Amino acid sequence: MSPAERAQRRLQALADALEPRLRDRFLRMARVLPPDEIADLVRLLEAGDLDGAVSLVFDRSQATQALTTIRAEFARGVAEVTQRIQRDLTLVGIRVIVPISSPALIERVRTWEDTAFRRVNEELRAGLRETIATELQRGIGPRQVAVALKGPISPVGLTAYDVRIVQSFRAALEEGRYRDALQRALRDRRSDRSLVARLTSGKPLTPKQIDQMTAAYQRKLVAFRAETFARTAAIQAANDANQASWLEAVEQGQVPEDEVRRYWIVSEDERLCATCAPIPGLNPDGVGLRQPFITPLGLRMGPTIHPNDRCTVWIRRERAGVRRAPAPGSTRFVFA
Ligand SMILES: [Zn+2]
Repeated sequence: MSPAERAQRRLQALADALEPRLRDRFLRMARVLPPDEIADLVRLLEAGDLDGAVSLVFDRSQATQALTTIRAEFARGVAEVTQRIQRDLTLVGIRVIVPISSPALIERVRTWEDTAFRRVNEELRAGLRETIATELQRGIGPRQVAVALKGPISPVGLTAYDVRIVQSFRAALEEGRYRDALQRALRDRRSDRSLVARLTSGKPLTPKQIDQMTAAYQRKLVAFRAETFARTAAIQAANDANQASWLEAVEQGQVPEDEVRRYWIVSEDERLCATCAPIPGLNPDGVGLRQPFITPLGLRMGPTIHPNDRCTVWIRRERAGVRRAPAPGSTRFVFA
């Protein structure tokens, strides 16, 4: 295993340890978001004020608290991984102590909050808006829509994209396209036998069965969304901790900045990810500590740049006059 691969596995393992905690926080948020009191929500829906309804759900104090908890978990993750990386750096003779309130750490958390986390938040708001709009369009009354939001399988926690997937799943069941339903990777497999039986008998599902299957599908999508969020946020936290540790090492005079080089390491799980695959080739000599990488999406400081991104940045010291090993990544991928 090359040093770059070893470094990557290390960061990915640290991220894997954070992932369940972040996933748990996301799921808790999805549970906390639905309003406990629906009278105001019904009034807004009756007035056709969709944005007002979305704000009512997301801007309540419980919702804000849930978001704060996620942010705190991310910050805690970055701090924890930073401590591990500090120990790793000691092994290569770099003795750096990163205080919990280091400007570099605070900056990483703030950047994440302003970019990836904000995006997730906006997607969830858009998802709720889409849910309400489609339900109203289907002729469901404002009161029933509000009750459904509060229910045990609340659709809060889905993106607009997820909501459309759920709707098309429901449509497939309603229109008797069971083969389509059976091809959904996230369907609840406990319904498979019933669906297969209907393929041969031609007997339609009852509305209650359709509701139950759709609800189960929706629950799985929320779990999938939580997984994607946690996976991406965790690897981001690990990469951020790494970057912050090296920044601090430079600040503390442990390493001259011009000897620090960063290389984008594409994750093996991502071999088919068209977004990241060309990046090592676009930056064959790596970049400096505060220099962005050239990526197909423009200049980026590092991963993550898309959901489920598992790439890492390998940071190393390259002393002047010492011959470098070939840049990592560039031999493993062929570039046009
Ligand atoms: Zn990637």
